Amino acid sequence: MIMKYVSTNGSSVAVSFREAVIMGQASDKGLFVPQEIPVLSTNFFRELPDLSWAEIAFRVARPFVKEDLPDDALWNIVTDALNFNIPLIRLHDHNYVLELFHGPTLAFKDVGARFMARCLSYFVRNEDREITILVATSGDTGSAVANGFLGIEKIRVIILYPAGKVSELQEKQFTTLGENITALEVDGTFDDCQQMVKTAFADDTLNHHLQLSSANSINIGRLLPQSFYYFYAWAQLGMSDIKPFISVPSGNFGNLTSGLMAKRMGLPVAGFVAATNINKVVPEYLDTGIFTPRASIQTIANAMDVGNPSNLARIRHMYHDDLTALRKDIKGHFFEEKEIRKTIHEVYQQYKYILDPHSAIGYLGLQTVNSNDNSPGIFLATAHPAKFKDVVAEETGTLPPIPEALTTCMDKPKQTIPIKPDFEELRDFLLDTKNSS
Ligand SMILES: *Cc1c(COP(=O)(O)O)cnc(C)c1O
Repeated sequence: MIMKYVSTNGSSVAVSFREAVIMGQASDKGLFVPQEIPVLSTNFFRELPDLSWAEIAFRVARPFVKEDLPDDALWNIVTDALNFNIPLIRLHDHNYVLELFHGPTLAFKDVGARFMARCLSYFVRNEDREITILVATSGDTGSAVANGFLGIEKIRVIILYPAGKVSELQEKQFTTLGENITALEVDGTFDDCQQMVKTAFADDTLNHHLQLSSANSINIGRLLPQSFYYFYAWAQLGMSDIKPFISVPSGNFGNLTSGLMAKRMGLPVAGFVAATNINKVVPEYLDTGIFTPRASIQTIANAMDVGNPSNLARIRHMYHDDLTALRKDIKGHFFEEKEIRKTIHEVYQQYKYILDPHSAIGYLGLQTVNSNDNSPGIFLATAHPAKFKDVVAEETGTLPPIPEALTTCMDKPKQTIPIKPDFEELRDFLLDTKNSS
């Protein structure tokens, strides 16, 4: 089978993995999805408990990328990108937590950003033109993308962020790196930043002189690697006849989409919980069948403050918009701030385990399906508690230990270039600083 990627809007032609990663979004503005999701062999599932993290990643990825990435290139990409562990830990009884936050920016987005960066770098290795990645960030995406692309040849990353509107810790994570990463401190709002980036992508002059690309979470190159760790979680559970429930704290729903892809590939899963904060458009859609996107509401789990989640289009496409089938695989639940805080407090009191607000939502989601038959359930922990130390300290009375990755960047000086929220200024900057090799 030759793997092709098609648009969720259905009107574009099918493209290769390479093209899908470079383009980011289909020309009809839909999102790329695999034309067909292959079911992995019984052999693979038999061997799974004994495979290493890198071997699992390699074998799950292979059918999706083999036309564009020879085996040795794919192996180099997975071993270089996924160089941190993703442990499954038994929290209590039959509740397991999959810790996705041991990468360089301490959030699960490292998995997708690092894999995508290395794929892109491989795909442009023979071109003379440098690629310029433009990202607007309100905090977390900027750091995962910047770290993912740090030191990657022929790619420069320009991050736009609103001055004074991201936390000091988040800011330090993407303004202290140097090398091929430049941070533009925009005297405006996040929406201004996003608008400037959008205008840049549509600007003829810029597109003539530069090869612009985006690294946002709708890129299929970020989605595919997120399916690897669902297999790794199951392997670590070490119970071959078990179908766990998996609870996924969700915002833009990329993480959950990757889990649904894993299930399609044959991973034994009883079902998923789509757990959100009060930005509950997806739980509401599952409940009523009506999707009403709206402006997001700010919460303590801010990486999940999404009012119009783009990956719902992929999920609906995968299920042919069959709500009954969707409801069989996904239960939606949303949680308010006081429940999130109470959970951080109680889980620490009872089990001495520190949850960040996003992971606490994952934990709460799992409790809604905790059946009395004692079958294990897994929730995903998407951020390290040290990234949200204020809320965590308030609820647990203790400060989580700060990992080295955070302390090192806190000690380095911030390097930014201030600019006005003005597209012309951005354009001049991009043209003046382009590497004309
Ligand atoms: C981005 C993010 C999420 C939401 O993931 P989606 O794939 O957008 O649903 C959850 N938790 C954290 C910490 C994140 O950074």
